[in-house]
Amino acid sequence: MKVKEIVQKFEAFAPKRIAEPNDPIGLQLGDLEQEVKKMMVTLDVRPDVVKEAIENQVDFIFAHHPAMFVPVKQFDLSVPQNKMYAELIKHNITVYAAHTNLDNANGGMNDWLAQALGLANVSPLLPTRAEKWYKLAVFVPTENSESLRQALAEAGAGQLGEYKSCSYTLSGTGRFMPTEAADPYIGKAAKLAEVAEDKIEVVFPASKKAQVLTAMRAVHPYEEIAYDLYQVEDLGEKTGMGRVGELTTAMTVEKYAKFCKEVLSLQGLRLVARDKQKMVEKVAVLGGSGAKFYPYALRQGADVYVTGDVSYHTAHDMYESGMAVIDPGHHFEAICKPHLKELFTKWNGENNWEIKVLSSKLNTDPFDFI
Ligand SMILES: [Zn+2]
Repeated sequence: MKVKEIVQKFEAFAPKRIAEPNDPIGLQLGDLEQEVKKMMVTLDVRPDVVKEAIENQVDFIFAHHPAMFVPVKQFDLSVPQNKMYAELIKHNITVYAAHTNLDNANGGMNDWLAQALGLANVSPLLPTRAEKWYKLAVFVPTENSESLRQALAEAGAGQLGEYKSCSYTLSGTGRFMPTEAADPYIGKAAKLAEVAEDKIEVVFPASKKAQVLTAMRAVHPYEEIAYDLYQVEDLGEKTGMGRVGELTTAMTVEKYAKFCKEVLSLQGLRLVARDKQKMVEKVAVLGGSGAKFYPYALRQGADVYVTGDVSYHTAHDMYESGMAVIDPGHHFEAICKPHLKELFTKWNGENNWEIKVLSSKLNTDPFDFI
């Protein structure tokens, strides 16, 4: 099994296109052609995590946080971060990171957090985005209709949810007059040809546009192919950052903060709240550093917003807005480890990858409470 095959399966679940702009996701270090026998999932790639991977003879590290947030200018091995990269290369360990694409994926990080925090009726906190979809309507002689439909389906057109090879065909008459310079498949120069044609309609996502059009050109018999291509709305999976949902049982801000501390197994958390006795029904959550998005939580009517890395001045603004905020620390995203392990173990079984999937046992939270 190669890294690229594992990555391909993962990117069907959390495609790179749903990541936030300029997020350094994907291959971090190593080779997508690397053979994998053992992989390890982790929140962070830190020197201790790399040591753990080496001790466990891991070939592939799958991380949530990119390993290289800061580009290397001098590869000075006295710098611990650089030494870590050198260790990875020396031990043939490939590193891949799925950051905001994992956060935004449906069934990904923020859904895992929402589930842990007891939320029901969950929807994205920030406005959603959807992949562009196209509709192709192509006109073809009836006799070539079936082979074209097949080629389009093989190229990935007409896949809707759990349905494949979806298309619509309408029969009619095509007319054209070839000029002297033309090399027509049907008809003669300067004579109007009338041909029994089918109009085939299929839809597909932008990611498949090139392969679908190439397949059409390869199979279609005409010198000049008649086709319409246009963008369609309301198709394609919608994804968005953060989640907002409801508690099945309302409780006070103080009680909910204690609940968060318990379910996330924390030593402590920070609470910003004017009124700790306010009842909480609606909760917003955003994994990572989501402080700047608190106005979305306000707009969605959340009583509490759970996110990491809240800073002093932003906390002042949150306090004045009346929004209660729970900051469990950025490390609360460590919740992804058992879920990622479960996902890769499931795909391993389904696809006979025959790899071993480990989860890092280390706590990479740099903060301690005393
Ligand atoms: Zn994060």
